[in-house]
Amino acid sequence: MELKTDIVVVGAGLTGLTTAHYLQKYKQSFLVIEQAKQIGGAIQTGEENGFIYEKGPSTGVMNNEIVREVFEDVKAYCSLEWAANSVNKRFILKNNRWRSLPAGVIGGITTPLFRFSDKIRLLGEPFRKPGINPNETLDQLVKRRMGKSFLEYAIDPFILGVYAGDPSYLVPRFALPKLYNLEQKYGSFIGGSVKMQLEKRKSGEKKQPKQPHRIFSAKEGLSHLTHALMQSGGAEKFMLGIQNITIMPAEGSHFNVKGVLPDGEDLLIQAHQVITTTGASSLNGLLPFIEPSFIQSITNLLYAKVVQVAVGFNRWEGSVIDGFGGLIPSKEGKLVLGVLYPSAFLSKRAPEGGALLSVFMGGVRHPEVYDMDDEAIYQLVETSLQEWMGLASFHPDLFRVFRYQEAIPQYGADCEARFIALDRLEHQYPNLHIGGNLQGGIGMADRIKQGKQLAEKVAGK
Ligand SMILES: Cc1cc2nc3c(=O)[nH]c(=O)nc-3n(C[C@H](O)[C@H](O)[C@H](O)COP(=O)(O)OP(=O)(O)OC[C@H]3O[C@@H](n4cnc5c(N)ncnc54)[C@H](O)[C@@H]3O)c2cc1C
Repeated sequence: MELKTDIVVVGAGLTGLTTAHYLQKYKQSFLVIEQAKQIGGAIQTGEENGFIYEKGPSTGVMNNEIVREVFEDVKAYCSLEWAANSVNKRFILKNNRWRSLPAGVIGGITTPLFRFSDKIRLLGEPFRKPGINPNETLDQLVKRRMGKSFLEYAIDPFILGVYAGDPSYLVPRFALPKLYNLEQKYGSFIGGSVKMQLEKRKSGEKKQPKQPHRIFSAKEGLSHLTHALMQSGGAEKFMLGIQNITIMPAEGSHFNVKGVLPDGEDLLIQAHQVITTTGASSLNGLLPFIEPSFIQSITNLLYAKVVQVAVGFNRWEGSVIDGFGGLIPSKEGKLVLGVLYPSAFLSKRAPEGGALLSVFMGGVRHPEVYDMDDEAIYQLVETSLQEWMGLASFHPDLFRVFRYQEAIPQYGADCEARFIALDRLEHQYPNLHIGGNLQGGIGMADRIKQGKQLAEKVAGK
């Protein structure tokens, strides 16, 4: 089969789908090719016996307005769901007991999570000098400014929840740029946050809505969002189940995109521009014309392996579930990273009186969990939930295990070389655009933002 189009988008995860949505909005001619038989990438919703569960992400943080814009655009097919206010309650495990993560100053002073000496030390945070090493790791930065117990019982579990990562690997300049800039611009986290609020008020910018309103999902599951994006992008433009995709420069600054259709027939698409939105490692196969040592500096990106388990109960008989969920600091020495309570803050996730939990485990520190068999995972979840969730016995009505070999990219010191190489590549091939989570952030809101930016770039907006 031979086709011609202006733009080919490779990958139909959230980034590729958002790109397609905006390309359609900007009246571009394009095709999306995807190796899997289904769209959505990491986002897949399951529905069984009264449970609606996510195999990948459950919620995102609305940290930019484009997310709201996208939901508004696709409202004919899918509705935004805000998490209930209870998501403000978060827990941290210490000595096998959940402790509330303090939200305010009083909570911060009284919490048993942090050492007394670190609480006193925090008073001096605004007066400490900013760091000078741009590749300082997150653990070094936090120990320097806030103290070890804040690293162990606040930052480390936060990083497990977001990156399934390790603060001694992540570099804040790339992994948490807002935090890094706070120190670089204002000299302090505490002073910087206060000054930023004052600046916003001065400039007349509206106060941000409170945290709970910023956690989003889609009604009846995030797959409704990905399918809505495919509808709005034009379902006929999506080609699924395409194997062995390669992109080769052709005459006249065109690209030949080749692949194999599900029935074994060869596919050739001639395009003016190509956008890739896959994870980093796929680029090795997609771009065979690039010298291996050069492409390696782009694709050599560490990804956390994550195992996610959806556990459902028709009747919940454990302790009261109220809040977003709990995280387990590395210091506690567990294989489980955290337990989310989706049925407590999203509607229709479990039958009335029941509960849906999402247990995630492994991450950068425990990649071995990825290779554990389902029986071993079951036992781990059983003992963990009995110990922490007040369950006398463990008889779930839903138990589904999902493994991700390349779940979350880890933005470490190697980002600098990657970004330089990406710039060089795009300079040499201006019609080849490399998107995806190898840059631009790891969360759903970041992916949506990048999707729009990619579409704007190729459409000349
Ligand atoms: C277990 C888990 C939990 C998460 N939790 C959260 C969370 O709570 N909040 C949050 O905001 N984010 C979370 N994330 C991250 C979020 O899911 C991702 O940022 C987002 O879904 C990534 O979208 P993407 O399109 O960039 O990549 P992907 O979803 O990986 O999509 C890439 C697509 O490219 C396709 N592809 C790959 N190689 C090729 C190839 N050679 N040819 C053709 N197609 C190819 C893949 O099949 C896939 O469909 C989580 C991720 C995982 C895995």
